[in-house]
Amino acid sequence: MINVAGFAYDSIVDGPGLRAAIFMQGCDKRCPGCHNPDAQPLIGGTPYPPEGLYEMIAANPMCSGVTFSGGEPLLQAAALLPLAQLIKGAGLALAIYTGDVIEQIIARGDAAQLELLALADVLIDGPFLIEQRSLSLPFRGSANQRILDSERSIREGRAVSCDIPEWYPEKQCGA
Ligand code: SF4
Repeated sequence: MINVAGFAYDSIVDGPGLRAAIFMQGCDKRCPGCHNPDAQPLIGGTPYPPEGLYEMIAANPMCSGVTFSGGEPLLQAAALLPLAQLIKGAGLALAIYTGDVIEQIIARGDAAQLELLALADVLIDGPFLIEQRSLSLPFRGSANQRILDSERSIREGRAVSCDIPEWYPEKQCGA
């Protein structure tokens, strides 16, 4: 079961396009100024089976992608694997937010976390740092957070920047 703090069917702020955003319950980072403090407690939330969440995603035919946010999705990596496989099997894009940085994740070597991130298209890594807070960076809360090619970063064992232009609307012509 996946412990969920919240679900948005039609988010436009958790990545490009119209996305389903799933906010996981539980985070151990305690970032000052956290955007979602209700998702921090490790106990609470609502348990969903992966198939149930996938049905909620598939109910919106306009959905172009899915974002796992939090809370800390990597704390539930093993439970999220079947859902990630269903999402990718349906041809949907998958993005994951984490308060860890990719170098920490790779060094930790947690098999479920690495497998989950190898399935994802995009990883936004790093904690929210209030001293680097930015309102002008789309899809990120603070300037330290990186938009990475998740699958390639895991495969190559290093941080690889995402090269999907839609993740950088501030750089596009006329922006
Ligand atoms: S990692 Fe995200 S959810 Fe966790 S405390 Fe920091 S801002 Fe909040």
